[in-house]
Amino acid sequence: MMRHTNDGPGRSPGSEIVRFAQTILDRVLDDDDPLEELLNWIRPKWHRDAACKEVTGVNFFPERGGDVRPALAVCRSCLVRAECEAAGVDGKEYGVWGGTTASQRRVMRREGREAA
Ligand code: SF4
Repeated sequence: MMRHTNDGPGRSPGSEIVRFAQTILDRVLDDDDPLEELLNWIRPKWHRDAACKEVTGVNFFPERGGDVRPALAVCRSCLVRAECEAAGVDGKEYGVWGGTTASQRRVMRREGREAA
């Protein structure tokens, strides 16, 4: 029988999963805002520093032809713009991501494929 390299007394992949789940539950249940804490575990770390989290009344997903300038203005001062742009280029079809519009990202993807 093949053994897992971390196997030892009381340790197994299954027990590690249980321990991990318990750690998450402990943290979530201790927090004032359990849902936000749970989402922080799931989301990429850079989401925590997103400038758009702090603004209200700016639409980052306007209808086609809608005004993207307010969203782009927020992105200009965002600390995680590069990470957001990379995520956007990687597959976000709609909205403003990392200071780019959907049509700009389509061009970036096309140029990236042509350069490869
Ligand atoms: S770059 Fe723009 S869309 Fe991305 S996290 Fe920052 S403010 Fe939000």
